[in-house]
Amino acid sequence: MCSKVVGHKKQKDFFKKILTSGRLSHSYIFSGISGIGKKLFARELARSILCSKGSFFSECDCQNCMHVKSGTYADLYEYEGKELKIENIRAISESAGMTGLFGRWKIFILDAVERLSNGANIVAGNAFLKTLEEPGEDCLFILITSKYDTILPTIRSRCSVINFSPLSDNEVKEVAGFYNRSISDEIVNLSAGSIERAFLIDDLKLFNILEDINNKDFKKFAWYILNIDDILVFKAAIEFLYPYALQEYKSSGKGIYIRYGEYILEILRSLNYNVNMDLAKHDFVSKTIEVFGERI
Ligand SMILES: [Zn+2]
Repeated sequence: MCSKVVGHKKQKDFFKKILTSGRLSHSYIFSGISGIGKKLFARELARSILCSKGSFFSECDCQNCMHVKSGTYADLYEYEGKELKIENIRAISESAGMTGLFGRWKIFILDAVERLSNGANIVAGNAFLKTLEEPGEDCLFILITSKYDTILPTIRSRCSVINFSPLSDNEVKEVAGFYNRSISDEIVNLSAGSIERAFLIDDLKLFNILEDINNKDFKKFAWYILNIDDILVFKAAIEFLYPYALQEYKSSGKGIYIRYGEYILEILRSLNYNVNMDLAKHDFVSKTIEVFGERI
């Protein structure tokens, strides 16, 4: 597991100043595309705040840092997006209202916080808003999202937003190196600065789809797509072609690629509902052949 935050210097400098001057707010939203290290940054920030030796984003072996690293620091709470349900929001409110065990900050890191704006979760969202409105003196909330625009406006207005940029090509390579992986330049190029995307493209051999399309080997392309049986893999494959469609539009100026891009977004949206995946796969294959088969 990589624990070094690569890049995001501006954000580090910002928080260093804030911590030095003691002007830390109670709630921040970390916004930026997924797979660039926002959660890791939040954990490292939490560790730096709780460190008893004043380390900042650097190695430290004090007891607090060791507890934070092993996930056993009692006043640090972390929730994944799927855990943001009303019962957990109630538990968060309760913990926020109590005195911290260590007399320092109580820190809550909530990932994929946009989930609180989804239909059934809206009750949880409103309950969370109440906690945000009256934060205890010692409470710090770090909300993480890759979909800032879909967060409840009432929650947004209570938080300072910290924007995170995609990683540079070298940074993507550096992070991959921590995982003992080497990523080709082509994949880095298509990763759009997201390590998550780079690994996905690599793991699923999505790059082969591009090669098949470029070589007009649609038989192989169709075979790959039609044999996918996991909806997440299917989504990743479709999503992978989106920036490619835009790139094709930029170089050729042909509207067909823009329409194909719109088609991709539409099919991705429809897959969030109970769409028959087999039909969607066949439709995607024929549409792709129609668009790229004609290319000279
Ligand atoms: Zn420490």
